[in-house]
Amino acid sequence: MRKTTCPFDCPDSCGMAVELDGASGVKRIRGDRDHQWSRGSLCGKTASYADLLHSPDRLQVPLVRRSGELTPATWDEALSAIVEGLDGVAGEEILALNYAGNMGLVQRRFPMRLMHALGAACHDNGVCDAAAEAGFQAVNGRSVGPDLDEEAVPGRCDLFLLWGSDAKRTSPHLLPRLKALATAGVPVFVIDIYRSETMEVVEAWGGRGLIVDPGSDGALALGLAMRAFDERAADLAFLKDRCEGGAEFRAEVTGAWPLDRVARATGLGEEEIKELSSALHGAAAPLLKAGIGFARRRNGGENMRAVASFAAVMGWSDRLFFQTGDHFGLDDRVISRPEIRTGPAPEPVSQVGLGRILVSGRFRAAFVWGHNPAVTLPDSHRVREGLARDDLFLVVHELFMTETAKLADVVLPATAVTEHSDVFRSYGHRTLQVGWRSSDPPGDQRSNVDCFAAIGRALGFEGDLGFPASGRGPAFEVDEDVLVGDLLAANRGRFTDDEYRRAVAGEPVKLAPRSFEGAGTPSGKIELASAAVEAGGGSRVASWVPDDGAGMGGTFRLVSAPSTATHNSTFMHVSRHRARLGEPRARVHPLDLESVGVAPGTPVRIRSEFGSITVQAIADPALPRKMVRVDGFLNEDLVPEGVGVNALVSSETSDLGGGNVLYSARVELEQPKETP
Ligand code: SF4
Repeated sequence: MRKTTCPFDCPDSCGMAVELDGASGVKRIRGDRDHQWSRGSLCGKTASYADLLHSPDRLQVPLVRRSGELTPATWDEALSAIVEGLDGVAGEEILALNYAGNMGLVQRRFPMRLMHALGAACHDNGVCDAAAEAGFQAVNGRSVGPDLDEEAVPGRCDLFLLWGSDAKRTSPHLLPRLKALATAGVPVFVIDIYRSETMEVVEAWGGRGLIVDPGSDGALALGLAMRAFDERAADLAFLKDRCEGGAEFRAEVTGAWPLDRVARATGLGEEEIKELSSALHGAAAPLLKAGIGFARRRNGGENMRAVASFAAVMGWSDRLFFQTGDHFGLDDRVISRPEIRTGPAPEPVSQVGLGRILVSGRFRAAFVWGHNPAVTLPDSHRVREGLARDDLFLVVHELFMTETAKLADVVLPATAVTEHSDVFRSYGHRTLQVGWRSSDPPGDQRSNVDCFAAIGRALGFEGDLGFPASGRGPAFEVDEDVLVGDLLAANRGRFTDDEYRRAVAGEPVKLAPRSFEGAGTPSGKIELASAAVEAGGGSRVASWVPDDGAGMGGTFRLVSAPSTATHNSTFMHVSRHRARLGEPRARVHPLDLESVGVAPGTPVRIRSEFGSITVQAIADPALPRKMVRVDGFLNEDLVPEGVGVNALVSSETSDLGGGNVLYSARVELEQPKETP
């Protein structure tokens, strides 16, 4: 039995116990009972991870495009093709196009060493939570958050507010904690834009769900802040001692957010708003967990900033959970080695706007790892068109023949989590784990480290490439187990002796909290007024404007909800999981279906100015009017247009942080006229 961490982009970062069989490698994977957060359980997707490892659909050998077709090749042939493809291409003409397909720090970050050596351009990581992070950090500086494992228990928490997160699908191990609280009589509130599965189960346990109009969360937060001042529930001492701009914020919200305005903006009843604020005012040890649902919008950064500002008004900044990245504070430069870059790094390009950038003709080569941009980026038609350019040399390192890999000039087969070593740290709790390699890959797959080191050597990068006087030796003659050790050693000060010993032994280790000087904002305090946001063209204090749809003019709001069968685009290429995805569907209120003349169970065409998809219409009376809900990225083989939901959405960016505006999308519904 060996242990590791689920590698997916999920805050739970569950502990996996890997049962080995001498003949076939990994026999079974189950939850690790010793893992502090996941306590022995895995979600349904990862519980069948062994299927992914042993899937006949995995890429086994490199593929090189010859005469227009991707054909099997040896690694030497593939490396030669890369050397040839990059001939005369250098520096900013190359794009590093990676994301979070594997959350391990070593495998995810090592390819950047090659990108630095090449002088490649990077993107700004805008596609997931950039707006949420920008809004949160504008107020709070760091993302550490309370220890939910310790604090979300009866006796230590007297109210839990889950805001903008369908945790049952996106952080399922929070659910047992919510159940324990709710059944013990602790008020648990869930705020979302439709009756999510999380809201349903929390209400069944005695909690309370509140449905707000899409994009109105900031208005609710500002309204709650005004009521806190008006009703003497604000923590004035906290505002004075810990915050900057408290008086300015108070002056801005006072009188601006009366109940009737908040009700109009949010769609909540006035009694519902009073009920929520009264419960909040009566809490002494609340926990607030902000998801990123309300931030994937044009006004998303300010929505999060308003929520964080409200928490500060109540004196609860330390009780507001967003992410735990700064709890770990790990420096991974020993893996990526940015100092080997010989010139200044180019300005990062917009990841959200990459389709537009690629079709404009920018970049002559791109390396993709841990990412399926042809599916996961907005305006995916243009992303595909850009990646398919004849004058763009595309190299993709992947487990499966993804939509992006199909466009590549060279495809390199990748290892999966048990087949390489890595270091995992969660962004949803405080546990870190080293996962040592425990099985061999089934074919000629290589890890990110081995793959990109081989490319580096093939390109002629020899020696230490000017590493500082560390004596670390050649940049691309590396061993990933040594790199794991390097990463731990470079951060030795973050561990106690016992934590370090257990980390090296591969145990899940919950690191003790760090101490900080100040809040991590420019002023060192929690900022309710921000000169930095103002200097960037934003408002000085948190503000709210309705979501403008990012310029899209459709009648219906498109919500792409998380899937239970796949994880982003991961698992979409495993036959068994693909079958579980089933028929592509869209949920629509029955009266809306009737209004567009589409019968439930028949195809409906969802159209925007960027594209269309035709899927089965499901009548969902629980869904708010003028909303279309599509779960997951869809099995594109079963969509007549051959694309997924991101073909419909804009590549405009959010108000703060260059984030995506996926949930701002507006579409039209219609009867399909003919099969495209
Ligand atoms: S996807 Fe998330 S919930 Fe599922 S096993 Fe992995 S970390 Fe746990």
